[in-house]
Amino acid sequence: MKSAETLSTRRLQELDAAHYLHPFTDHKSLGERGARIIERADGVYLWDSEGNRILDGMAGLWCVNVGYGRSELAEAAYKQMLELPYYNSFFQCAHPPAVKLAAEIAALAPAHMNRVFFTGSGSEANDTVLRMVRRYWDLKGQPGKKTIISRINAYHGSTVAGASLGGMLPMHEQGDLPIPGIVHIAQPYWYGEGGDMDPEEFGLWAARQLEAKIIELGEDQVAAFIAEPIQGAGGVIIPPASYWPEIKRILGKYDILLVVDEVICGFGRTGEWFGSQYYDLQPDLMPIAKGMTSGYLPMGGVIVADRVADTLIEHGGEFFHGYTYSGHPVAAAVALENLRILRDEGIVERVRTELAPCLQSKIARLAEHRLVGEVRGVGMLGAIELVRNKQTRERFPDKGSTGTLCRDLCVANGLVMRAVGDTLIMSPPLVISPAQIDELVDTAWKCLDLAALKLGV
Ligand code: PMP
Repeated sequence: MKSAETLSTRRLQELDAAHYLHPFTDHKSLGERGARIIERADGVYLWDSEGNRILDGMAGLWCVNVGYGRSELAEAAYKQMLELPYYNSFFQCAHPPAVKLAAEIAALAPAHMNRVFFTGSGSEANDTVLRMVRRYWDLKGQPGKKTIISRINAYHGSTVAGASLGGMLPMHEQGDLPIPGIVHIAQPYWYGEGGDMDPEEFGLWAARQLEAKIIELGEDQVAAFIAEPIQGAGGVIIPPASYWPEIKRILGKYDILLVVDEVICGFGRTGEWFGSQYYDLQPDLMPIAKGMTSGYLPMGGVIVADRVADTLIEHGGEFFHGYTYSGHPVAAAVALENLRILRDEGIVERVRTELAPCLQSKIARLAEHRLVGEVRGVGMLGAIELVRNKQTRERFPDKGSTGTLCRDLCVANGLVMRAVGDTLIMSPPLVISPAQIDELVDTAWKCLDLAALKLGV
């Protein structure tokens, strides 16, 4: 097969079914159905191999923050490939793009965070977190502090450490996870789990699970608490307003590191550069990826607070950890250009002042639909809870099927949203226009109508 050969959709689907093992996929049903082949993209739109135009309400996988088709990013990659396509940062070497990127990210991060460890992805960033927090406590002479407290239904990646840090039970069931030394407390998911409590009361309750766990394990055993500012893959779970302040109060009492996973919230998604700034958190470590390059090339990292970095550096010796592609020069050059676009075009600022208020006020109207129990969002993140009974929050039978139905109807009508169980979620590119937000909301409403018709309600 010549690489330039144009293949029909059917042929691509046959080859796909025969050879390509997709991530997070039931291959038997995909083989029967045939993959949707996405061929090109521009701005906020995708085009599939049948010529359909689809509004990408998920920014790829929460990552294409500056939108598709930015030729500056392609040019940055091309230039860097000619100059220095690869070199490592092992053995006391560095190269300009990685050095400049580390400095740029340090300048954007909260003031007490001045160093970056680069990885190839968000999962690798969280593997780095696990190793770095344990290394930190070893160097502090407290090797017993090994356990990391996370939350049920958190997502921190798909490697062994990432999936263990995450709290996705179906992932844990495949392969005896989590690994030892990682425990999970309740998540602050009021709509799904708040019962009779009001949101603020529930937020306090959920936060206090952290203190209960620290006391149960013993402070001298606990290395860190890890959390996404807003859980993304778990269903865009926005904690009640009482949650983060109470977590901060608890962390103030105990000598435990705070890891804030910024893989989704980082680089503008909340209208601040980082979710930690949105919630006024003081993290010790911030895993990053996705919006760092707007997904144009794979790259991740961990932003490290001075308290941790200084310990590694001053009490150090070698930290036996790193990846071939840590700080990859082409990915770093693309990340630098991506940060320049986000900054020079005022994209983060515009999200805060204009686009997030626009998106949030428009999606809020979807709550009037008879299938919708709650709409929530922060910045350019949103979630729509699908229910049979708005008052009791009762779901339709066959958990997840209503979410899948709505998602499939959306795609068929030109809109990508994702379903997490019976919650529809969105995370559009940060450059979506108000008119395109109208298109997103109108299409969502139409698809909710179609779903209601199918469900006979
Ligand atoms: N952390 C969070 C919060 C994520 O959402 C993700 C990916 N969805 C990851 C980590 C893992 O990132 P990657 O897929 O790049 O390994």
